[in-house]
Amino acid sequence: MPKTFTEYLERKLIYDLSGGKCHICNQPVSFDEFEKEHVFPKSLGGSNSPVTNIRAAHQFCNSQKSDDLTQSQPPDALYFMEFAQKLGLVN
Ligand SMILES: [Zn+2]
Repeated sequence: MPKTFTEYLERKLIYDLSGGKCHICNQPVSFDEFEKEHVFPKSLGGSNSPVTNIRAAHQFCNSQKSDDLTQSQPPDALYFMEFAQKLGLVN
């Protein structure tokens, strides 16, 4: 559970932007249980912005994902592509 009101607001924002679903498997996830998941991994230059780069995920899905970009679901795939292009990973 969130420790502070600010953290609560951030979780609420991320949860709402995720439509109450895990962005990896696209199944519903509860507000109390979801983990904050970097859509584009921080290790590859992804931002810490809850608006653009953090979505809700099940703990299980998050632990399975690691930095494998191929497991992203639409509409986040488009966001991935933009980032990949910026980094020169794809044309
Ligand atoms: Zn999931």
